[in-house]
Amino acid sequence: THFGFQDVRLEDKEHMVRGVFDSVAESYDVMNDLMSAGIHRVWKDTFVACTRVESLAKAIRCNAEELTILDVAGGTGDIAFRMVDAMGCEERAKSSGRDPVSVTVCDINTEMLRVGQRRARERYGAALLDETQALSFQEGNAQSLTQLEDNSFDLYTIAFGLRNVTDVDAALREARRVLKPGGRFMCLEFSHLPHPVLQSLYDVYSFNVIPTLGEAVANDRASYQYLVESIRKFSDQETLVKRMTEAGMEGARYTNLTGGIVAIHEGWKP
Ligand code: SAM
Repeated sequence: THFGFQDVRLEDKEHMVRGVFDSVAESYDVMNDLMSAGIHRVWKDTFVACTRVESLAKAIRCNAEELTILDVAGGTGDIAFRMVDAMGCEERAKSSGRDPVSVTVCDINTEMLRVGQRRARERYGAALLDETQALSFQEGNAQSLTQLEDNSFDLYTIAFGLRNVTDVDAALREARRVLKPGGRFMCLEFSHLPHPVLQSLYDVYSFNVIPTLGEAVANDRASYQYLVESIRKFSDQETLVKRMTEAGMEGARYTNLTGGIVAIHEGWKP
């Protein structure tokens, strides 16, 4: 059967997902480019453009307030780096003092965080991490963000992370809890194609090509088989809107990208 992991007990899923990302951490960025023919970069650019962090950061700087962003399941930093770039944090790092903008990357997996921190240092030097603290990395589980206080973030993002969480509804409730009232939740995730024929063609591609690529490039068929299965089993667009609403978010809605291969979901904490 295609769904080799579907009998995994819930309490084992977290352990298994940890193992998957431990083994893919080093090859993760290259594999993303190969599997999606580079399109994941466009999806991520579009996602970050939709957050409008650039104009939020401008408004904050004028009012000398703070803008706090939490990127959950942030892995090797792709979303956080785009946000930091859009908000001009590197430019501000040349002048001293703490940046009024902060992006916190939170991930359950220390290997992914290690790769992310290394990439951040290569890209920006130490200033953003150590001096202005515009960018920070911390370990944490999306479904119980016990290290984070209620009402503390203006924006919560999760990109290609929610489907890996064992208890998605708990993660949505946690997102609502840590957001400030009026704060925004944004999720970028694989979703479902509205047309069954397109969905079957896409399944043929993903179930055959992706595990084979995983084996050839990363010598790890099983992890990439898991990735494909987790995509297929995750909620479709409307179901995720419903789950967000049940978790107490308002204005839940989605936008499809590439015909629904991925979708951006967003909502507000009232
Ligand atoms: N957001 C990054 C990106 O778009 O490139 C990484 C996405 S990667 C496919 C999924 C990430 O989710 C991994 O880094 C994994 O460790 C993390 N993850 C899985 N389960 C998690 C959980 N329960 N809490 C926090 N992070 C989790």
